[in-house]
Amino acid sequence: MDKDKEIKKLKAEIEKLKKLVIRDELTGVLNRRGLNEELSILFNEAIALNGHRHKRKLHVDDFSIIFIDIDNFKKINDIYGHNVGDLALKKIAAFLRKKMRSIDIVGRFGGEEFAIAMLGASEDDAYKKAKDIKEDIKRDIKFAKYKNLKVTLSVGVASVKESVAKSVLELIVCADKAMYEAKHNRGKDNVVRYSEIS
Ligand code: GH3
Ligand code: MG
Ligand code: MG
Repeated sequence: MDKDKEIKKLKAEIEKLKKLVIRDELTGVLNRRGLNEELSILFNEAIALNGHRHKRKLHVDDFSIIFIDIDNFKKINDIYGHNVGDLALKKIAAFLRKKMRSIDIVGRFGGEEFAIAMLGASEDDAYKKAKDIKEDIKRDIKFAKYKNLKVTLSVGVASVKESVAKSVLELIVCADKAMYEAKHNRGKDNVVRYSEIS
């Protein structure tokens, strides 16, 4: 094989590996690394706030994060087994992918936590979407062998405008704080907006 061909082939291999590195193996959505990368790029290109509109490639008024933590997931593993826990993660990821627009970013933030970024969505838009997601998952995610198993979520929502976050990491922290409020002060199975607690 000549050198050019060899280089081309190697480059293709690298691209393939890069894709694997940013995907979560179990669920197929972005992993934490992929989320961080894609969100930083999008956030930096998108937010047309603070008079820097001319520097941005994409102009949007707002940018929201939905942060999801499955309730009592350890119990699901303990009672039904790790395979059922894995299946729940897969079903939720597939549901989120289907439910969100193709321009939204969906990723697995950690063990039983997912994060979604909604380009151009206000806190209110994201809150409505998060409530739908929470109710749909509780109602529609089913396990053939375990009719009584219901999956509930604690969810936090934050937007750039309602939080004044200056980076995507700051915005995720805000959404995580709102999720914490839903989890620990609202009895779980709940959605909280960052503007309610800030
Ligand atoms: P809370 O309602 O407060 O969120 O409680 P929780 O049990 O959901 O949260 P906790 O942090 O106590 O436990 C998370 C569990 O998620 C523990 C861990 O074993 C499980 N977990 C993390 N990753 C995976 C995975 O890939 N597969 C399965 N089956 N379980 C996982
Ligand atoms: Mg958790
Ligand atoms: Mg949990």
